[in-house]
Amino acid sequence: MLKVHSRCDLSCDHCYVYQHADQTWRGRPTRMPPATVQAAARRIAEHAREHELPVVHVVLHGGEPLLLGAAGLREVLAELRTAITPWARLDLRMQTNGVLLDDELCRLFVEYDVRVGVSFDGDRAANDRHRVFAHGGSSHDLVRRALALLRRPEHRASYAGILCTIDVRNDPDRVYEALLAESPPRVDLLLPHATWDHPPERPGPEPTPYADWLGRLHRRWVDDGRPMSIRMFEALRPGGGGTEAFGLAPADVLVIEADGSWEQVDSLKTAYHGAAGTGFDVFDHSVDEVARHPGVAVRQDGVEGLCVTCRACPVVDRCGGGLYAHRWRTGSGFDNPSVYCADLLRLIDTVDAYPPPTPPASGEGSTTSPVDGLLDDLATGHGSASTLALLADTQLSITRALLAACRDGSGTTAAWELLVHLDQVAPEAVRAILAHPFVRPGLVHRLDSSAPPGLGAAADPLPAIAVAAALRAGVPAALHVPVRADRITLPTLGSLVLPGLGESAEVTVRPGEFQVRGGSVAQTVLLDPLAPPSTGWFPTRDVSVPGGRLLLEDGDPYRDCYGQPVESRLDGPAARALGRTLAAAWRVVHRDVPAHAAALDGGLRAVVPLAPDPARPLRSATARHAFGAVAVTPHADPETMAVLLVHEWQHAKLGAVLDLYDLVEPGQGLRIRVPWRPDPRPPEGVLQGVYAHLAVTQVWQSRAAATDHPDASAHAAHFLGWTRDGVDALLASRSLTATGERFAGQLRHALEETRVGSR
Ligand code: SF4
Ligand code: SF4
Repeated sequence: MLKVHSRCDLSCDHCYVYQHADQTWRGRPTRMPPATVQAAARRIAEHAREHELPVVHVVLHGGEPLLLGAAGLREVLAELRTAITPWARLDLRMQTNGVLLDDELCRLFVEYDVRVGVSFDGDRAANDRHRVFAHGGSSHDLVRRALALLRRPEHRASYAGILCTIDVRNDPDRVYEALLAESPPRVDLLLPHATWDHPPERPGPEPTPYADWLGRLHRRWVDDGRPMSIRMFEALRPGGGGTEAFGLAPADVLVIEADGSWEQVDSLKTAYHGAAGTGFDVFDHSVDEVARHPGVAVRQDGVEGLCVTCRACPVVDRCGGGLYAHRWRTGSGFDNPSVYCADLLRLIDTVDAYPPPTPPASGEGSTTSPVDGLLDDLATGHGSASTLALLADTQLSITRALLAACRDGSGTTAAWELLVHLDQVAPEAVRAILAHPFVRPGLVHRLDSSAPPGLGAAADPLPAIAVAAALRAGVPAALHVPVRADRITLPTLGSLVLPGLGESAEVTVRPGEFQVRGGSVAQTVLLDPLAPPSTGWFPTRDVSVPGGRLLLEDGDPYRDCYGQPVESRLDGPAARALGRTLAAAWRVVHRDVPAHAAALDGGLRAVVPLAPDPARPLRSATARHAFGAVAVTPHADPETMAVLLVHEWQHAKLGAVLDLYDLVEPGQGLRIRVPWRPDPRPPEGVLQGVYAHLAVTQVWQSRAAATDHPDASAHAAHFLGWTRDGVDALLASRSLTATGERFAGQLRHALEETRVGSR
């Protein structure tokens, strides 16, 4: 954190820089002199070079950094880029009050790829309770103007989000609505700085007013489908990853003050005068020397660095003792729980009490653009369960549209009428069938006049879909169903293979069973798994995974949509072995990258075994029309299978996104060289590769952090390099739409987040 200016144009009464115990700002230069900027940049570059860091994050801070003006900021940004970029990727950010932000500054931040966070406390009453000028005037309109500038399409890549300090006297609903109205990619909610010496205000008799206040805001956010990222709530969930304020990850922030002093985290200024000081400066001391300072070193110790109360706390892995500064008490120093301990315990209970995410609001009543919300969330590298639910819904809409198109070309109306009836009396049954990944490929095949006749171009898929839905609903029905190669396949249920059925069979549905008559054959099939097996009936098999049930799809004829040979029906031992590997792999994904696991739980329904190929024993695939499924060669190692699942699920998600949005400019015929393929690739292929490799990078980074895998660091670096090169080539190619460029830019930032979903 680089304090490029040590004064501010606002006079907020909750400001820890000017209003709290530490007053060292009074003796510091107003602005960081150029020689200090140079020395700071050289120290950071030196550290990046010596430790071969892949990325360095630098936040321009103050006081108010915009007081440097556009020319002054340009000098600082140029110095940092020149010194550091040869050694590491530089992730530049800024935290500002926004008052002075204008077009020229926004253009500068886009030019230097600076992501700007704005401090904003909510509605006018909330914001102006503290965030005012020295003369008492409001900053609200000016800050909103700054946020509107950052939202403009040409600046949006530089919009990092909002930092909101809460006050329990404000109305949480109005604060929430004011934040949502600004469409921030991310919101950071801050508890007001306080210590045991100066406890937080508790205006009423309630013991946990901060948890109560945040709980109300959390409920609004959940009820709305989590339409924006709120880091506090995400960090406090199991496996949430932590922040500076929560969790047990080592502290990784140092401050360079305007006079070149190295300091510990800024919030310590709230504890006592000089609390953040180290006695070191950038002219004479390296980062490694500062890192050995006891105040910095103790914050690398995880749970061992906490007080005895926190070490025994059941939620210590998520709370982490709260913000370091909030533990201060004269006499015992920082060896205490947070002064917000009771609130934190209750808040974690509140977060836990809510069910899994629901789809985010879009369209009517929402102030967040659906494009921004959905893509911003997926650009984290994984996407939330609510976004996955939204993607699945859009895929279902496409399937329904294809179904209607098939009806228009169908000779019979009975199947359609049965489906319409079932959609009224048993909509969940119809939904379950239409969400099956291989319904859409069947419909597409039916509609595709160029489809090869070998796959049964004339077969009408509607009757089998309707029969499957009727069976699921337990609704009696009778329909004629086309037979192909002596086989009728009922999606999600299984296949009946009976020689002599002819070209069409009458299927009569009764609860729990169906009867087939065709050609010279009549057969009743009982669906009860405990009933004796019915001749010729091959039911689908599934496996229990942490996210629910996963179908082993080795019977549906439309699973043959991967451009690779698929395995025919597995025998019992092979199916059980694959099921065990998939279940174990799923648990590995939960262990390594919980955020990806949530996205996997939210959408992956089926796995198709690919036929073995000795030349390429490890293969996997997705098909654009088969959302909800991936194909893999059966493989016994869950660790490897986990990587394949995560990799392919990225392709499936991005394919669903490409059904909705144009991310690539059409018809350019451009080809881009990428490190993972010998042949140049079209832009969409590169985007797919980048998205998949980003996830694989995150898996290996997590494994490397766990330090129990011998090659994890090398793999992480390898995939990081691929992803970075791919996204840079893509951005340089000018082949993306504005939406695509923004998405790719966010992927590059996500790549630089090194603690995503780690254990
Ligand atoms: S804008 Fe920030 S630095 Fe300035 S007075 Fe307010 S809280 Fe302090
Ligand atoms: S809830 Fe309280 S005791 Fe538990 S880790 Fe947090 S501060 Fe410590």
